[in-house]
Amino acid sequence: EEKWWPYLMMLAASGSLGGLLVVSADAKTKEEGPTEKVSEKKKRLLILGTGWAGVSFLKDLDTSLYEVTIVSPRNYFVFTPLLPNVTSGTVEAHSITEPVRRIARNRKKSIKFYEAECLHIDAANKTASCRDMSDVHVKGKEDFTLEYDLLVIALGAQPNTFGIPGVKEHCHFLKEIEDAERIHQSVLDCFETANLPHLSDEEKRKLLSFVVIGGGPTGVEFAAELHDLIHEDLVKLYPGLEEKVKITVIQGADHILSMFDERISDFAEKKFQRQGVEIQTGCFVQAVTDNEVTVKNKSGQLYTMPYGMAVWSTGIGTRPVVSKFMEQIGQKSRRVLATDEWLRVKGCDNTFALGDCATIEQRKIMEDIDEILKLADVKNSGTLTVKQIKEALESIKERYPQLKAYLKANNKHDVMALLGKKVPDGKNVQSVEVSIEDLKKALGHVDSQLKLFPATAQVAAQQGEYLAKCFNTMDHTDAEKGPPRVRGSGRHRFKPFQYRHLGQFAPLGEEQAAAQLPGDRISIGRSTMWLWYSVYLSKQVSWRTRFLVAFDWSKRVIFGRDSNRM
Ligand code: FAD
Repeated sequence: EEKWWPYLMMLAASGSLGGLLVVSADAKTKEEGPTEKVSEKKKRLLILGTGWAGVSFLKDLDTSLYEVTIVSPRNYFVFTPLLPNVTSGTVEAHSITEPVRRIARNRKKSIKFYEAECLHIDAANKTASCRDMSDVHVKGKEDFTLEYDLLVIALGAQPNTFGIPGVKEHCHFLKEIEDAERIHQSVLDCFETANLPHLSDEEKRKLLSFVVIGGGPTGVEFAAELHDLIHEDLVKLYPGLEEKVKITVIQGADHILSMFDERISDFAEKKFQRQGVEIQTGCFVQAVTDNEVTVKNKSGQLYTMPYGMAVWSTGIGTRPVVSKFMEQIGQKSRRVLATDEWLRVKGCDNTFALGDCATIEQRKIMEDIDEILKLADVKNSGTLTVKQIKEALESIKERYPQLKAYLKANNKHDVMALLGKKVPDGKNVQSVEVSIEDLKKALGHVDSQLKLFPATAQVAAQQGEYLAKCFNTMDHTDAEKGPPRVRGSGRHRFKPFQYRHLGQFAPLGEEQAAAQLPGDRISIGRSTMWLWYSVYLSKQVSWRTRFLVAFDWSKRVIFGRDSNRM
């Protein structure tokens, strides 16, 4: 009998709503009462997205300083590096997801979370139009608008089909938790159907042909997981089907894992060869139908491959909401949002972007060349000695990652090598004079080696942590002022974002993994797999997921992988 009052409240609330619902991020509600006076002065901070970037920002943010609102169509965070584990039934979906509300609950001050999709950002009026996309919604009242003072865009990216016909309709993607669960079910479905008594051998072979398009880290890890699921578990449950199974990886580049050290891609290729996983390199998919993939090989020949299941894993593209926003702020020709090194979106005030949806346009040394020359104390003759250049480079190298990387890779501070010149006979290198033109040419060359940050969880998480630190002190500093000076703290109190590459893993199946570690060191084998287990366990966002993942891994060793077809 006590359950009647919530309905009464819903009835009263629904009566007061009409037309388009406009919710201000600092809208006053009765429950907030006493805190309102304080909150009026606070800036309204809107965060879009609850992935790696959004959640790491939220976790480190002092929420008592802002009126924080988060919008995302999923009310949980996904630990994406373990998605391939879900496809094989090694780890359960809920073990690698953490409710955003649980993360938000532990913050200093309560924040608002709305499960909705942002469809449009209006930079001029500082509003974000959102829509409730869930199955349960109030008809005609799906849309609402949020106002903000500060906006953090952490919308990630979506799979890129490159406009190839049939990919969207017939291939699986591996981006979201639902994708991973669907793939797992689809593999089991292929086995159940192939096991039916009335099918021919040819039909069974087609059903058990698994095609993975994309030989990058995700595609390779998935292929390895699939191999292990089939050969360690499913062959015992479906006797007689093993020899009909075929896994093929189609890769456009000449090697799989081409972004890794060649010793790693070589090891992975040989391992796949031994396991019977076919790798087709230099091949590009042209079209996909409901039962075959058309491929063009290196010599331009077209051929078709029948398949039971195809997984598309070839890279990422821009989300429509981000494309529309880029058009609005004059960044139309780009693939991702351009920010400065403080993660501020170029051409748009009070807006920050991080993670897969953004890229930092790093500062070029040549943009600051006059200040650098002043620092190096140019002689009247317009020349500099090697000693002066060395000192100047040393003092600015922290500011320009491209210079730091160059000096590290090229015999530290060999200025003559940087200039592409030899020391004249009998001269002390320190006193060799160098023309400014030669120095500018050399620094221009270093600038041309600027690398974009990779679209990884590692970058997104570090950017989130960095931005939270800036936000936690922003009100007390002059963070909004112009670009930094070359030396010292200058006009800017924050250091620009600097990415620390901690290494990258590539699990290869059968309890083996490869890792490319900082300093171009590599590690391959079983011990690397143990390192992978410990790193990913330690990186879990909560003790709950840490416990669940460890439990799932142990369960797999004792009972095998999940093979329930739901
Ligand atoms: P995401 O994590 O994708 O988050 C985007 C957020 O925006 C999501 O919450 C989404 O729901 C939300 N969103 C989307 N559209 C809207 C909208 N319209 N309105 C509001 N919210 C919206 N990286 C590594 O470093 N190591 C790895 O081992 C690794 N393995 C990976 C394995 C797989 C299978 C995949 C798919 C990726 C892997 N990555 C890995 C890459 C890593 O997951 C991404 O680089 C990272 O997720 C980027 O973080 P993000 O916050 O920018 O985007």
